[in-house]
Amino acid sequence: MKTLRIGSRGAEVKTLQAKLNTVCPYGLVIDGVFGAATEEAVRTFQQAHDLTVDGIVGAKTWSKLGFETAEEVSPGGRTINKLILHCSATPEGEDFSIDSIDNSHKARNFSYYIDPVTKQKRYVGYHYIILRDGTIVRCRPENVRGCHTSNHNSDSIGVCYIGGCPARTVKDWNKKGKDTRTEAQKTSIIKLVRELKGRYGNPEVYGHCDFAAKACPSFDARTEFKNFK
Ligand SMILES: [Zn+2]
Repeated sequence: MKTLRIGSRGAEVKTLQAKLNTVCPYGLVIDGVFGAATEEAVRTFQQAHDLTVDGIVGAKTWSKLGFETAEEVSPGGRTINKLILHCSATPEGEDFSIDSIDNSHKARNFSYYIDPVTKQKRYVGYHYIILRDGTIVRCRPENVRGCHTSNHNSDSIGVCYIGGCPARTVKDWNKKGKDTRTEAQKTSIIKLVRELKGRYGNPEVYGHCDFAAKACPSFDARTEFKNFK
């Protein structure tokens, strides 16, 4: 869905007007012209849904209206102030596929991006995933906003390693955090952090737990990467 604002015209404006009429009796004429009445309806909708009230229908407003949108790629690149480390919260000793992460993030309505290689829609919220054998998998392009840490996605890069919980045989394994990084994963995380720090002007390294009440990534990333060069 494109970003629509006053003056926009076309089929997507009709879609918007029809949808607004179903969520509230705005009584908009579905004419495909984004005029003052449509803008007023958008503002009312935004106000009611804790969105920025600007009368502009961007990704967040489309999303609240029930339409999925691609995260916009910022052509000039993003300003990256943070590298945020995560775990997949899966049991020690078990692999977990990128497709599984893609499916679970799709189910959680994460924004999608277009995979640069396959040209397919993907929903993985992280920019990189580190497999148990240390393979670094590129997921979301770095210039696309991630979907991994509430309120900190616009200026960060998200890196996730597979693991982070005790083995499945441990009681309540999925309610506990455990640093399950393999030596290969540790080496790859260091390599990737070094590379990203070099390219983005030395951003700080954090764990997801620094921004949310979670165990993720099950180790103290901030301390581990303090003074890291
Ligand atoms: Zn996390």
